[in-house]
Amino acid sequence: MRKLNTIWANATDSQWNNWRWQLKNRIATVAQLRQVVTLSDNEEQEIEQCLKIFPMAITPHYASIMSDSESDCPIRMQAVPDIQEISFRDCDMEDPLHESLDSPVPGITHRYPDRILFLVTDQCAVYCRHCTRRRIAQRGQQVLQYKHIEPAIEYINSRKAVRDVLVSGGDPLTLPDEKLEYILMRLRAIKHVEIIRIGSRIPVVLPQRITRSLCKMLKKYHPLWLNTHFNHPREIVPESIEACTRLADAGIPVGNQSVLLKGINDSPYIMKELVQGLVKNRIRPYYIYQCDLSAGTGHFRTAVGKGIEIYENLRGHTSGLAVPTFVIDAPGGGGKIPLFPNYVVSRSDRKIVLRNFEGNLYTYTEPEDLSVYKGKTCTAGNNKTPTGVAGLLHPKTRG
Ligand SMILES: *Cc1c(COP(=O)(O)O)cnc(C)c1O
Repeated sequence: MRKLNTIWANATDSQWNNWRWQLKNRIATVAQLRQVVTLSDNEEQEIEQCLKIFPMAITPHYASIMSDSESDCPIRMQAVPDIQEISFRDCDMEDPLHESLDSPVPGITHRYPDRILFLVTDQCAVYCRHCTRRRIAQRGQQVLQYKHIEPAIEYINSRKAVRDVLVSGGDPLTLPDEKLEYILMRLRAIKHVEIIRIGSRIPVVLPQRITRSLCKMLKKYHPLWLNTHFNHPREIVPESIEACTRLADAGIPVGNQSVLLKGINDSPYIMKELVQGLVKNRIRPYYIYQCDLSAGTGHFRTAVGKGIEIYENLRGHTSGLAVPTFVIDAPGGGGKIPLFPNYVVSRSDRKIVLRNFEGNLYTYTEPEDLSVYKGKTCTAGNNKTPTGVAGLLHPKTRG
């Protein structure tokens, strides 16, 4: 994918394929950007203005898959600043998901009973223009330092209910192997931590980072899962495929979380091509997010109905494996809330009328015997009364 007519014309293959070289040679200024894509004088000035507020960083790899002429190229729109970024909207927030506000120790957000979000770095390979954590990755508001690792691990160690740790950032794969391994080793040593998940866009924006030695290290800490972030089928190129294949071959199930972005992927056709391209490469579409209300991302937001329409175009029309869940991460820290088209058309005490993806109606007759499971033979778990709406449904809960 390397283009030879650019500022990197003199780079050797071994430089190009080296992730540290890629990081060192990122595009961060208009002068560098100008050598890779066509910019009008006006665009140059606008980008300069944006850079005063939010920085830019584009790896040579990600720049190489960008169109040099179309300003609406979906790769370019995710990486090159747009003047609309600095006209904030009333609903914009620094920390829309209350991750820092709801944080018991720096780097930790403990929103759900059995799992935790652990931000281990504020560094990223590319600064996505739609970033939900730009307060951290692009503004250094809560600068995550390595000294925060110990108290965070201590916290996880003290919470016996935490069985799933989501290591994110920033991008955790920007850390050198040794630092990342130290964190994984410490987490793996905690008895109640059953699974570790890594959230990283590196396979898409810096695939050279997914080296054989990284995979060899990661596989020592199984069960380990990784969720990455492809937003457009054009990001599925030989390099990113190779990175994900290496991860999958190391036994790491790879999932994908996309963000719905206006003018980039807010089309059922593009999304279908994306999810099918992902499963073809053993990447499981996990979530499609409604774009968060983070500062300066208003121009990317789509109507909520667009996500429902995309789901309608996938469910039944393609492999169930390729259908992600559409979610809104609730502003103010409510967590992820899934949204679906309505499939229940009507119901009585004995029947439920459903519609399928073709719009045909079907009736399912419910059982006559509605006596409930008494749980006498159930030995799983500790039978604690659940919390939340599940708790309201519990037979012992009074309304
Ligand atoms: C997304 C998220 C999780 C993980 O949610 P899943 O639905 O289990 O993938 C955990 N904690 C926080 C704070 C999150 O934002």
